[in-house]
Amino acid sequence: MATEFIPFNRPYATGKELGYIAEAHGHLHLSGDGRFSKRCHQWIEQRTGCAKALLTHSCTSALDMAALLLDITSGDEIIMPSYTFVSTANAFVLRGAVPVFVDIREDTLNLDERLIEAAITPRTRAIAPVHYAGVSCDMDAIVAIAKRHHLAVIEDAAQGVMAGYKGRALGAIGDLGSFSFHETKNIISGEGGALLVNDPALVSRAEIIREKGTDRDRFFRGEVDKYTWQDVGSSFLPSDINAAFLWAQFEEAERITRERVAIWQRYHIMLESLEHRGRLRRPVVPADCQHNGHIYYVILPPDIDRQAVLRELKSHAIQSVFHYVPLHSSPAGQRFGRAHGELSLTTSLSERLIRLPMWLGLAEAQQQRVCDVLGAILGK
Ligand SMILES: *Cc1c(COP(=O)(O)O)cnc(C)c1O
Repeated sequence: MATEFIPFNRPYATGKELGYIAEAHGHLHLSGDGRFSKRCHQWIEQRTGCAKALLTHSCTSALDMAALLLDITSGDEIIMPSYTFVSTANAFVLRGAVPVFVDIREDTLNLDERLIEAAITPRTRAIAPVHYAGVSCDMDAIVAIAKRHHLAVIEDAAQGVMAGYKGRALGAIGDLGSFSFHETKNIISGEGGALLVNDPALVSRAEIIREKGTDRDRFFRGEVDKYTWQDVGSSFLPSDINAAFLWAQFEEAERITRERVAIWQRYHIMLESLEHRGRLRRPVVPADCQHNGHIYYVILPPDIDRQAVLRELKSHAIQSVFHYVPLHSSPAGQRFGRAHGELSLTTSLSERLIRLPMWLGLAEAQQQRVCDVLGAILGK
């Protein structure tokens, strides 16, 4: 009997996506900022408390907008973790800025707030914390440091949709925040994202930058009688077809998150004894953080060959994957960025991490098989 394959990810659909896309077509408005886009904007604003939410093509383009909006320029420095996706750095490198990589915390794998202040120079403009696995950074500490040094805070909350910190929504705590709705995330639209503008003073310029540098939004609201070129900008708005898909997911966002957290919790219980026997380390969620079950990862002991573990899992029809190659050790990271200190935790933790299959509909029996096979590989 062939063993059933357990993929790492399976994009979830609620079943309403295609109907809403047909509805968008029926409205005869397929370009950006139609009815579904407006509903999505309101939903994000109501849920997170941000001053203005703007859908974008991706989290990458939301970060690109953030860099434009803050007038990041040549030689500016942005403090961020090295353990992140390339987009956190690229957005600023595109403007000529230098990513300054700071080490991560052992427990959450998030930017270590205790190391930030020593990395600040007269050229530092902003801090870009990344909420890895939907578990918040220590935002009170980061915001306090930013205030003290007059820096902006741009949250990369790509993985943080529906997650919180002390009851506040991730993405809505810094000056700006960004979400991703890529198919590998919790709430999806294929490719998609949003910029969360939390500083009201940045709202009107954000709308202009997103509309190719024009004041088209003001024109549509009847605030001006024609629209013209006002500022730099590009086309950052997705079509209402994408927004229609996304709306179906927003309607179910509570349930999707609840079910993912339940799957996460099942892994956590199943793997407790392996942790007690020192065979792996489970994720840590500080008491202040309300996570969203985005990733279930484990950290392998230093003496274990990670590639061999992934190969063994694969031979048992289980797809498990590693995650980021630290940016400071990548060719572009070395060319454009600067490492602050040794980044030894970034290096060692990133080399020992694997992510287990995680998707809506993953059954308890499948999770048990993943944990049994992992236990057999790591030696019980
Ligand atoms: C997924 C991800 C991104 C990029 O999101 P896109 O929507 O694919 O552009 C950026 N940062 C982090 C931390 C991510 O996980």
